[in-house]
Amino acid sequence: MDRDETLFNYLKEENNRQNDGIELIASENFASKYVRALCGSILTNKYAEGFPGKRYYGGCVHIDEIENRAIELVTRLFNCKYACVQPHSGTQANMIAYYALLNTGDKILSLSLDEGGHLSHGSKVSFSSKYYNVDFYHLNKNGRIDYDALKEKALEFKPQLILAGFSAYPFEIDYKRIKEIAREVGAYFMVDMAHIAGLIAAKELTNPLEYADIVTSTTHKTLRGPRGGIVLTNDEEIIKKVNKACFPALQGGPLENIIAAKAECFYEALQPEYKEYIHQVKINTKACSDEFTKLGDLNSGTENHLFLLNTKESFGITGKEAQEKLEEIGITLNKNMLPNDTEKPSITSGVRVGFAAITTRGASENDAIQIARIIDGYLKNKIEKSEALIAVKNLTKMWKEIEEI
Ligand SMILES: *Cc1c(COP(=O)(O)O)cnc(C)c1O
Repeated sequence: MDRDETLFNYLKEENNRQNDGIELIASENFASKYVRALCGSILTNKYAEGFPGKRYYGGCVHIDEIENRAIELVTRLFNCKYACVQPHSGTQANMIAYYALLNTGDKILSLSLDEGGHLSHGSKVSFSSKYYNVDFYHLNKNGRIDYDALKEKALEFKPQLILAGFSAYPFEIDYKRIKEIAREVGAYFMVDMAHIAGLIAAKELTNPLEYADIVTSTTHKTLRGPRGGIVLTNDEEIIKKVNKACFPALQGGPLENIIAAKAECFYEALQPEYKEYIHQVKINTKACSDEFTKLGDLNSGTENHLFLLNTKESFGITGKEAQEKLEEIGITLNKNMLPNDTEKPSITSGVRVGFAAITTRGASENDAIQIARIIDGYLKNKIEKSEALIAVKNLTKMWKEIEEI
């Protein structure tokens, strides 16, 4: 049988786009060829409903070995006792965590999407606000969590679950403080480390498993694995509930090809090279943020792999306009609400900038500084489009190429 050439042409073009551009979307990364090979492997052929040793289908000997390997590696990586590696995505992982610990109508206290939270943390367009009663805590004027106000809100709202872990938060989180608040009001403490899992794995940020009852994550962001989710805990009763919530309650057959790819990414994250990589991500992010500050551009500063750039104050344009203008010169990033933003989420006053992806390709601290200068120059109309395109090309051609398959 012939393959669909139309489709393979699209793949080639997407491959060129990934190689020619500067990828600054903070939630993206480039998975290794081993991770990608496992995603596309024959493991996709196998049905394996259930869990290792307790499957509904025969022929699961090697599938069990693979899933057990993933569990063994991820629990070693995050220094915890139990893991469910089957969630198909970060959103699924969160849905599974809520389902395991709460009844519909129970109360969740989280940070809103507008201030750096995630859709699945109670946005009005998400299942989370439909099935649970969600209220929000907020950031202070410096863009950091207002822990005192969080405590007041928790005492008043009396949630069953307090959720921390965000999509656009550039600072370290005080898990100990939130745990104390959760204990005081009798709530579970859940952390969604989707964005920062890689930094935690490399011990460049605090490990929330020391404090939280339950931790969810994606595997495809800073962790650099396949698109997917995980749920971790140190509590034996909680993992039993999580596994039941995952299957049969919310998912069907697990994606064992993706679980194998997750295991490979956990293995890679345990290697010394990965620690160096994450360290470099932090250096690059800070170098770019500092350069913007030097150029007079208002930004959040950073303690992890991302920062928020205020495009309205810095360049007199909205986040949406900045995103579109930068795409013209091959720089991809996303518009993002700033703390107390007065623009709509579809417009915004700023953009989110992250360095996990291009650091994988070999971007250096100096490249990160260059990138701030290109963005500043282009958005202030100090450099022409043709000039900016050349500057982008000069950077990307020095970096590691991403192979098509
Ligand atoms: C990305 C993200 C998710 C969701 O991941 P998907 O795999 O896209 O569903 C959940 N929580 C946080 C904090 C995230 O940043």
